[in-house]
Amino acid sequence: MDTLTKAQRSERMSRIRSKNTRPELAVRRILFGLGYRYQLHRSDLPGKPDLVFPSRKKALFVHGCFWHAHQGCKVANIPKSRTEFWQAKFQRNIERDKLNKRALRRLGWSTLTVWKCQIKREDRLLRRIISYLGPAQPKVKKERSS
Ligand SMILES: [Zn+2]
Repeated sequence: MDTLTKAQRSERMSRIRSKNTRPELAVRRILFGLGYRYQLHRSDLPGKPDLVFPSRKKALFVHGCFWHAHQGCKVANIPKSRTEFWQAKFQRNIERDKLNKRALRRLGWSTLTVWKCQIKREDRLLRRIISYLGPAQPKVKKERSS
């Protein structure tokens, strides 16, 4: 049963949609503190990745579980009313995510997807991000001029 009123539902959805949530900011702050440098929401790249690490050509997406239909996630349930509408919508979102990642790959970028529900488990998430990115300060190869 759909127990939410229209207003409650739209309020909840705007919350789900919002960028720069507090846990997301916390993760960013930690990464910055470790020496990683990134750019935010680069609109010139396919899919507008949330965090971009230009020197590594790595892009990180922070996906909301609801809108991006995180499989097997309890946040990603299909609303009980207008089920077909939502199913089609989620399918389009999944498809778009896939195309964006493919487009990025073609441009030489690799991507990592982080789900909103994983941000709560900060330590685990950070380990995953760091192992994806590699060390914060890669050794600079000095070219010898002869
Ligand atoms: Zn999730």
